[in-house]
Amino acid sequence: MKPLFLLLGSNLGDRVSYLQEAYLQLSAIFGESGQKSSMYETAAWGVEDQPAFLNQALLFHLDLPPLEILAFTQQVEQDLGRERKERWGARVIDIDILLYGNTVLETPTLTIPHPHLHQRRFTLAPLAELAPEFDHPVLGQTIAQLLAVCPDTLPVRLIS
Ligand code: ADP
Ligand code: MG
Repeated sequence: MKPLFLLLGSNLGDRVSYLQEAYLQLSAIFGESGQKSSMYETAAWGVEDQPAFLNQALLFHLDLPPLEILAFTQQVEQDLGRERKERWGARVIDIDILLYGNTVLETPTLTIPHPHLHQRRFTLAPLAELAPEFDHPVLGQTIAQLLAVCPDTLPVRLIS
């Protein structure tokens, strides 16, 4: 079994419900013993004229091929009604694969670790709640260390 860290994001509609529903659907696939971070609110990244995001990191333990994991997370995105439009555009749910044990993978459809993980405070902050001491398999620093030196200036606000 390997730890799988996901990041949920939503900036449309009832964001809290979308994150909760995504967790329920992912638990039905990856197992009921998952863990969740708090939710964090962040201004949209990349495209700034759109609603703020809620983000939450999840941890599951499993042993599936990475591309099967991506197929499942994309299926949950579809089920929750995500419409694919512009990259970085508004969406009801985004599910990104952040880390999968010490897996390092680069294919046309899937890169693990997520290539922007270390650049985004809205990813590192919730991830650090779940696994501050986890070593990034490429950068060789822990999540807490990466957060401490992250240059991202977008404010990330903890939601109770
Ligand atoms: P973004 O998450 O960058 O805002 P999308 O969610 O639309 O954009 O993802 C675009 C594509 O990124 C997906 O179709 C998927 O094949 C690819 N991708 C590559 N690496 C990953 C990853 N680690 N997690 C999720 N998707 C990934
Ligand atoms: Mg995505």
